[in-house]
Amino acid sequence: MRINVIGGGPAGLYFALLMKRHAASHEVAVFERNPPDATFGWGVVFSGRTLSNLREADEVSHRRITASFETWDNVDVVLRDSKVTVRGNHFSGIARLRLLNILQERCAELGVELRFRAEVEDVDALAADCDLLVGADGVGSLVRERYAEDFRPALDAGRNKYIWYGTRRLFHGLTLIFRESDAGVFAAHSYKFSPAASTFIVECDEEAWARAGLGARTDEETRRYLGEVFARDLGGHELLSNNSKWINFLLVKNRKWSRGNVVLVGDALHTAHFSIGSGTKLAMEDSIALFRLFAAGRDVSSALAEFERTRRPVVEEYQQAAHESRLWFERARDYVRLPPLEFAFSLMTRSKRVTYESLRRRDPAFVAARDAALEG
Ligand SMILES: Cc1cc2nc3c(=O)[nH]c(=O)nc-3n(C[C@H](O)[C@H](O)[C@H](O)COP(=O)(O)OP(=O)(O)OC[C@H]3O[C@@H](n4cnc5c(N)ncnc54)[C@H](O)[C@@H]3O)c2cc1C
Repeated sequence: MRINVIGGGPAGLYFALLMKRHAASHEVAVFERNPPDATFGWGVVFSGRTLSNLREADEVSHRRITASFETWDNVDVVLRDSKVTVRGNHFSGIARLRLLNILQERCAELGVELRFRAEVEDVDALAADCDLLVGADGVGSLVRERYAEDFRPALDAGRNKYIWYGTRRLFHGLTLIFRESDAGVFAAHSYKFSPAASTFIVECDEEAWARAGLGARTDEETRRYLGEVFARDLGGHELLSNNSKWINFLLVKNRKWSRGNVVLVGDALHTAHFSIGSGTKLAMEDSIALFRLFAAGRDVSSALAEFERTRRPVVEEYQQAAHESRLWFERARDYVRLPPLEFAFSLMTRSKRVTYESLRRRDPAFVAARDAALEG
């Protein structure tokens, strides 16, 4: 088979390497507009279950990825000056760049043709030149746009603004911090993704953002302002920018997932709010699901139809959980008046996938303390 993949993010690279590993006779090319060492953002997180899927799909890359992991089981909820720790949550963090480098290396070893600095403009030409064209070109997908009449995408922007920073301050565990300034409530999602750095994503509602004048501040002024809001958490460390910009989360859904020999995967196909940390996982699991259909001997049209039929319900369940989570963060200013234990309980159960019972299994001491406080 001749396969062209547009986009060298986690979805595109992983699909390319799985197909090439399965049959060396496949001709697989990945077109990526950036050089190999360029990336946006800092670290990404995976939950425990994703890892067994990756191990089954390709043990070599799984070993390399897990060797670079920072792992933890605690979620720390910081509200004003109290910190509540909830245990029993299994997460791992890795630098996005490290993850991409591992996948690039593995592609190269297996003989995938990696074309960096190759911005695709003519999607039709690439589609005509192969048996399968994979649109793995991220949230702003050109492939999706080019065939919008077939895919019929639905795009919906979140109300909050967010910005993705890094810091040398090491947050051991997923640390969700809520601070108030004169302008409003600011939330930070932070976790260590390497021995030397943490991700630090800040989000706030439009009102707080406007009152703080963040639209008119330079990069340095913004980091200084947020550095003051989170001064007690950052412990003297500065926020690090990587061309960081304020954006609104964009929810992506598509009525159809393929047309002819063209299919979308990863963020081009669907997004899930970053507060449940599932974007990379979903992107790579799309690739596994699609790959398995080809490995089972299906032809292009039956594989693409079956991919949509079997994968859509899984994706929609995550999108629903992520949506609930996003709404919770959009209403954070209503919750910050809760007492710390109740606030942490509300935060932990926000996606409605974690229930009272499942939380009690994860961390009985936390649930007992919260119940006692509630009765008291
Ligand atoms: C603030 C934030 C925090 C996040 N945190 C997490 C997290 O903790 N855990 C998690 O799992 N996920 C997280 N995500 C989501 C995660 O980054 C994405 O879901 C994931 O990267 C999707 O992978 P992808 O391969 O589909 O797309 P991308 O990673 O976006 O890759 C698409 C690639 O296509 C290339 N491209 C686009 N157009 C063209 C073109 N025309 N020609 C050539 N190349 C092109 C781009 O350069 C890019 O390299 C977060 C996202 C955000 C915004």
